[in-house]
Amino acid sequence: MIRRLPVYLLIDCSESMIGQGIEAVRAGLGSMIGSLRRNPHALESVFLSVITYDAKARLVCPLTPLIDFQEPQLILRPGTSLGSALTLLADQIQSEVRKTSYESKGDYRPLVLLLTDGQPSDDWRAPLQRIGAAVRPRPANIYGIGCGVDVDYSVLQGITDVVLRMDDMSPESFGKLFVWLTASVSSASQGVGETANGEINLQKLPDNIEKVEAPAKSLEGGPPRQVFLRIRCSVKRHHYLMRYRLDSLAGCYQPTISHQLTEEEALATGEGQLPDISSELLNGAPDCPWCGNPGGGQCGNCGTMFCSDATDLSDIQCPGCNTVLKRNPTGERSNFNVRQSDG
Ligand SMILES: [Zn+2]
Ligand SMILES: [Zn+2]
Repeated sequence: MIRRLPVYLLIDCSESMIGQGIEAVRAGLGSMIGSLRRNPHALESVFLSVITYDAKARLVCPLTPLIDFQEPQLILRPGTSLGSALTLLADQIQSEVRKTSYESKGDYRPLVLLLTDGQPSDDWRAPLQRIGAAVRPRPANIYGIGCGVDVDYSVLQGITDVVLRMDDMSPESFGKLFVWLTASVSSASQGVGETANGEINLQKLPDNIEKVEAPAKSLEGGPPRQVFLRIRCSVKRHHYLMRYRLDSLAGCYQPTISHQLTEEEALATGEGQLPDISSELLNGAPDCPWCGNPGGGQCGNCGTMFCSDATDLSDIQCPGCNTVLKRNPTGERSNFNVRQSDG
């Protein structure tokens, strides 16, 4: 029987990955599979599983031989349930990874590649114990990879000793990350670089990734670093997400960018209960990515948020319920509570 190298990819599919982030992960995963398949050692021994997490953890692909692996669909939704993902990971390792017995040598120690770009929205400490139990006597090889500048590194440090940081979320940067991951999985599949106690020696890191050594400050209990609002274009009726970043000095959220949503994404991001945030904390709005309108309003009838141009005083039809809304002639916007998603 071949000795398998189980590789678990845990991918953050929260809304904050929208845009370049998720596109780059899709592309990186594709090229990783392609080049691993060209490596005979990897082709024989690497088994891949993909778990994604948003408000829930989802087993997108159970442990599968590389040759049969189908590239998974990664769909973004609100929430960052890292704890649920770790629980699911523990269950999968428990049921899928062969342990060493008197008769046979079991699988290699599973390699877990954990990608996140934010702060978890659930408890992740208890599930960690279950992973520990599932891989006993030795801990799992977990690489915690933080992408972007809003990662709570203290969480990753609580999960593993190998914490990596990649601030730049451009496609080129993700490309280098996946090339490096591919090299690490390849060498692990050949047993190269495995130390006596079964740890994997890291391949040399690319210049855009650094190892986080110093203890990081916890962001738990603080305000979310980013908030996302789901809104509709009042002209074209399509959905989009407005992204805001916390400005601690000013004590508010500054608009950064808007992302168009496909119909499928609009349905997926509509799932789940989202907390509320006061619009007083939001300093303006990013332009509508569909029509360029510079602001937003909310329908008093159905609660739908929509793009609008405050200088245009003509009536507007709510894209949610079709009610015709009169403009407030003073141009003042009353405070309203808008639906927030803390991806
Ligand atoms: Zn618009
Ligand atoms: Zn409405």
